[in-house]
Amino acid sequence: MDVHSHASASPARIEHLDLDLQVDMTERRLLGTASYRIRPHGADTIILDTDALEIAKVTVNGKEVPVLLGAPSILGRALHIPIDSNSNTIAVTYRTTEGARALQWLSPQQTADRTHPFLFTQGQAILTRTWMPVQDSPGIRITYDATVRVPKELMAVMSASNPQVRSADGVYTFQMEQPIPAYLIALAVGDIEFRPLGERCGVYAERSVVDKAAWEFADTERMLQAAEALYGPYRWGRYDVIVLPPSFPFGGMENPRLTFATPTIIAGDRSLTALIAHELAHSWSGNLVTNATWNDFWLNEGFTVYFENRISEALYGPDHAGMLQILGRQDLQGSLEHMHATGHAEDTHLRLHLDGRDPDDGMTDIAYEKGFAFLKLLESKVGRERFDAFLRGYFDRFAFQSMTTDKFLAYLDEELLKPTNTKVDIAAWVDGPGLPADAPVPVSDKFDQVDREIARWQGGTPAAKLATQGWNTFQWMHFLRHLPKDLTTAQLNDLDAAFKFTSSGNAEVLAAWLEQCIRNDHDAAYSALDRFLSTVGRRKFLVPLYKELIATEKGRVMARTIYASARSNYHAVAVRTLDEMLDWSATKPEATF
Ligand SMILES: [Zn+2]
Repeated sequence: MDVHSHASASPARIEHLDLDLQVDMTERRLLGTASYRIRPHGADTIILDTDALEIAKVTVNGKEVPVLLGAPSILGRALHIPIDSNSNTIAVTYRTTEGARALQWLSPQQTADRTHPFLFTQGQAILTRTWMPVQDSPGIRITYDATVRVPKELMAVMSASNPQVRSADGVYTFQMEQPIPAYLIALAVGDIEFRPLGERCGVYAERSVVDKAAWEFADTERMLQAAEALYGPYRWGRYDVIVLPPSFPFGGMENPRLTFATPTIIAGDRSLTALIAHELAHSWSGNLVTNATWNDFWLNEGFTVYFENRISEALYGPDHAGMLQILGRQDLQGSLEHMHATGHAEDTHLRLHLDGRDPDDGMTDIAYEKGFAFLKLLESKVGRERFDAFLRGYFDRFAFQSMTTDKFLAYLDEELLKPTNTKVDIAAWVDGPGLPADAPVPVSDKFDQVDREIARWQGGTPAAKLATQGWNTFQWMHFLRHLPKDLTTAQLNDLDAAFKFTSSGNAEVLAAWLEQCIRNDHDAAYSALDRFLSTVGRRKFLVPLYKELIATEKGRVMARTIYASARSNYHAVAVRTLDEMLDWSATKPEATF
């Protein structure tokens, strides 16, 4: 039972989707019909999840039936469709509304090329129901076919088999032959082009971005080979990436066959492509073996961070992987402190209890980094060889199935802990707060070098004289994260003159720098901050920057001023987080000016 889906309550299940959609870029809506092959399983009703849809017609085996919608809640509205044991198809004709939070419609000015509008969807966690009626639970899988009609100067791509060239008439057809949960159904429409990266891999992006993206992601095919060598065959055919406009709220979204990615990982030096390794790893952990409910989210993300780290290690060596681990641990410590300080200790458990809440609340560093630490502990206890064999077996055994925390723990006990006579305090890790004391501690002497240079700088050595030659992005991130809390304008100017942080094209470095500038009220960086917050919609960057801003009265005014104009550039999932953080709904925007 999934507390975030009305549909999961009914035994009747959808099995295959036939989607026919028209994309109206001018009116900003989707119109069409979602037809399903179903299995009644003896039920007299099949329930679909919907949210903010306008439903025109429902049919069962081709015959029209009444539209029966339940009361609205944070889960949307249940659509009840009367069926009997002979019912094998249902069809819903509908259109989306302004309330379709999965959809982000971008004006030409909000894209890289500035000539055509753009649309993308973000289904995770419970937003697919805002652009189609569907059984929107990660525990329910379907295959799909789709026909999508777009203006003929644009191209459509989905989490399915995809075109590589534009069609003459703007009509595109898609097939997803492997059964996937609804949150992985995805669509993007824009003036995009394709570049191959290898036999099975390629990249889509706007014209001005696509060649940079192809260069940045040149290692994708090697990553795919490394992943297969670790945990078995890639089962989805092609692996492509689409680089979206900068308002995309996440680093990446692992839509099967077609990862959706932020352009903020294009740094010009291939230094941020661990994100591609992460989304690729989801082709096993998440897309192949899927968390049954959002309370089990750590099964998707903890495993994926572990797998991602192994891919990075295979390609770039243990030093590289170690630095990623330390940065991840720093993020986790920050989140743990914040969650304990704000009275959300129960959200630091791996197994969550999100009943009555938006599952997006559970998408924190805990699932990712505490989950990773737990797997790293298991690896250290049984040895890597044994652990790899266990994981490989797990993905094979449960391919295309969903997984609960209990089911995983039983399998873990049976297949790994008992046979190796290994003791682990599962209760503390899975159902306890914080990071247990036996968490492995990642180390890297690359960061020790950075710490030494910070100490020299604090001791009076000018920034330009520090031994920073050859430092990579991770070392710079570590450097920026470990500067003293209070810095003078002279010190900030010294750093910026030597290292050009304010004009950095590396979003991670720039964001970490801007945090320092806000903390120390460094006026010289504020126009860069305004520009960054007005163009980038990636929540991971927005949250710490706005959080730092609202810590002071001056910053709070600045935050609300920037947010008032930038808010329309952000996707609904980022808006939800920031509205809450900035107390946006409580005050009318006008009142702040
Ligand atoms: Zn992930």
